[in-house]
Amino acid sequence: MLLITILNHCHRFPGFVYEWAKFSADKQAIEVRVRPRSGSAAVCSGCQKPSPGYDHLDERRFEFIPLWGFLVFFLYRMRRVNCRGCGVVVEEVPWGSGKHHLTKVYMQFLAHWARKLSWKEVAESFQTSWEKVCDSVEYVVQWGLQHRSLGPIFAIGVDELQYARGHKYLTLVYQIDDLTRLLWVGKERTVESFEGFFAMIGQKLSSQIEFVHEPLLKKTRWCLLKRKQNLTGDQRFRLRDLLRYNLKTVRAYLLKEDFQQFWEYESPAWAGKFLTEWCRQTMRSRIEPMKKVARMLRAHRDLILNYFKAKKLFSSGIIEGLNNKAKVTMRKSYGFRTFRVTELALYHTLGKLPEPDLTHRFY
Ligand SMILES: [Zn+2]
Repeated sequence: MLLITILNHCHRFPGFVYEWAKFSADKQAIEVRVRPRSGSAAVCSGCQKPSPGYDHLDERRFEFIPLWGFLVFFLYRMRRVNCRGCGVVVEEVPWGSGKHHLTKVYMQFLAHWARKLSWKEVAESFQTSWEKVCDSVEYVVQWGLQHRSLGPIFAIGVDELQYARGHKYLTLVYQIDDLTRLLWVGKERTVESFEGFFAMIGQKLSSQIEFVHEPLLKKTRWCLLKRKQNLTGDQRFRLRDLLRYNLKTVRAYLLKEDFQQFWEYESPAWAGKFLTEWCRQTMRSRIEPMKKVARMLRAHRDLILNYFKAKKLFSSGIIEGLNNKAKVTMRKSYGFRTFRVTELALYHTLGKLPEPDLTHRFY
């Protein structure tokens, strides 16, 4: 079977033809010549519209996925077009992206392995360089960031991570509701850098966020949410002692004791049902202080039920898990401890970013 036949099966583009494939002079690489299909117009890289040709540039090499230990290169003379809107610009080719020397599919291929192996291991496995692996991850991440959908977001978790010696910290913002993913990487750990996150997602999405889980706030937040529970927990008095008091107090105690159950619910829906029923009973009790409590609970019903959503989020250690993953990622990607590389690696492994569709599964 000819190599050209295989390429036409897995990596075919209507406007272009694989002309021939042969070994390079040193027999270390396979070179595949590509030419435009006759009669097909070049596409302007500025506006993606077919445009009249202008001239040719020198032959350019695009690196493709290596085959059986041989590097594979496409050789192609880029055309320049004379676009009505953009002027004389270089054409856009479907297998390449901008100035990248690697084909898109090879970049996706390397980036795929860069999630499983360290970047160094990927470079060694496929006879390429760490820089090219980094370049590939950058391509995939940028594509993903441009094409991801951000909302809706209702809970976020904020954490910080040291990425280099000498107090170099990052602020990481995770989405921790139905979707668990890294949303944002901020340089430094200042309030300003955190505000950068809200600027990125915009006002509409920001206003939908109900929970912000942040390590420094965690303690006070928990106190606030748990205070009601402590009221009965600490000052518990026994029923036997109570029976000496009047009936109203006993009933109040029973209602109070009953309400303790409320905090044990796991599901916001069941907690809501319980709350409705408890308030109904209490309002019938004719014990004014308890009725006051019931009215207060009814008025803040939404806020109180939020506690259950939060409880689910905060107790499951999602953020600790994500942060551990982030640390492992940084160890795997390092060549240089720069902000850019760290940012790329983190988005790549934790961002759950979309990727360009492929018509053939190369990996
Ligand atoms: Zn154009």
